[in-house]
Amino acid sequence: MNPEYEAYMCSEEWKGLKSRHPDPRKCVACETTYNLHLHHMIYPKDIWKTQPHHCCWLCEGCHDCFHRACVGERAKYLAWATDAGRVRMIVRAQRKEEGDFQSAADVLATMRIHQRSYR
Ligand SMILES: [Zn+2]
Ligand SMILES: [Zn+2]
Repeated sequence: MNPEYEAYMCSEEWKGLKSRHPDPRKCVACETTYNLHLHHMIYPKDIWKTQPHHCCWLCEGCHDCFHRACVGERAKYLAWATDAGRVRMIVRAQRKEEGDFQSAADVLATMRIHQRSYR
């Protein structure tokens, strides 16, 4: 990862963009509202010029999954997945390939079980 990117990720600009991002606060792939990351779908040449529409929300698990899908020959997926629908498609395909696909309903059911056990 390049140093400019690292610096941006720690910046007030990035924090500000996250807090004013207009999309609903849920993962575009599985719809969970926990552990959300803002994923860059489009990398502007100058990372400091990132706009809200360059990014979408992914939960930690789906974010990892997306980047696992974009290695080697499949790195081209990164350039292709420029909207939330395409990001969702790649995450779901990757999950299926890895055999741990969970539908949004499964995830919600799991969350409810967790919430109950914490009460
Ligand atoms: Zn997710
Ligand atoms: Zn990402």
